[in-house]
Amino acid sequence: IKRIGVLTSGGDAPGMNAAIRAVVRAGLHHGLEVYGIYDGYLGLHQDRIVKLERHSVSDVVNRGGTFLGSARFPAFKDPKVRAEAVENLKKHGIDALVVIGGDGSYMGAKKLTEEGFPCIGLPGTIDNDIAGTDFTIGFDTALNVVVDAIDRLRDTCSSHHRISVVEIMGRHCGDLAMSAAVAGGAEYVIVPEVAFDKEKLLQQIKEGEAKGKKHAIITICEHVTDVNALAKDIEAMTGRETRATILGHIQRGGAPTARDRIMSSRMGAFAVEQLLAGQGGRCVGIQGNEMVHHDIIDCIENLKRPFNQELYDLSTTLF
Ligand code: ATP
Repeated sequence: IKRIGVLTSGGDAPGMNAAIRAVVRAGLHHGLEVYGIYDGYLGLHQDRIVKLERHSVSDVVNRGGTFLGSARFPAFKDPKVRAEAVENLKKHGIDALVVIGGDGSYMGAKKLTEEGFPCIGLPGTIDNDIAGTDFTIGFDTALNVVVDAIDRLRDTCSSHHRISVVEIMGRHCGDLAMSAAVAGGAEYVIVPEVAFDKEKLLQQIKEGEAKGKKHAIITICEHVTDVNALAKDIEAMTGRETRATILGHIQRGGAPTARDRIMSSRMGAFAVEQLLAGQGGRCVGIQGNEMVHHDIIDCIENLKRPFNQELYDLSTTLF
């Protein structure tokens, strides 16, 4: 291969810029030309493709978001649309593509590979919901943002003897909420992997009050339940002021942590090496601090991300 492309797709995540930079710099190091594609598969279909030089990725390692932009482009599920996108890649002489994104983006990469265009995936999502890697790009930064928010809520909850319900991202994966609960010392954690039992939660809050707790922080993943309604129920039961805080997109922004920058850099460089070794249809991960790669389809469908029971138990033990 002589020319590779790189794009970011799906929800953005801090560290994506560091990953793009690593793909570009490692590619140049190995004598490749590297092309950046704006706004994910949408820009690929619209032929918004530019050559990236060494300086194109200067001053981005420390920046959140993705300077290439990202998009949701459902039309990419259509084989005809993908064939048009591949024509654009061929027009620029690009032989292989690095896709940085979540499982939807991986699905697009898998299909392109099956249709004859080799792709390699990098796990870019704050949710930590991708199999085949211990951590995804952006998770560590998001975790630090959430813990900082919990610390701030704790100050004011403690002053006002208030109860706080904090909604955290992670539609299918409780890693962010569980890690934040342990690091932030939250009393309760509600994740999608464990059936939500409102009565049990209310009972536990009551028990906490009986122990003399003056405030409480409940961390809960998005889409489990309506957090404002839950806060009302808790207030009705305890007679104590209860507020819900939805952290929302704040969790996706900000400068990536050093850990995310290092991980993204390692993954980006490793992806280029794998493409040079002729590997298509793979996705990159780090497991036990070792660089690994798996078949994309295994990461999307076959490899189950194990639920971190130990972390969940810890968060309930320490309450
Ligand atoms: P996040 O985890 O942040 O949601 P994601 O990569 O899973 O990231 P999606 O919106 O699911 O985000 O997918 C990103 C893009 O990947 C889609 O907008 C679409 O262009 C492409 N894509 C998703 N699913 C498929 C599919 N089945 N076939 C082809 N392309 C797909």
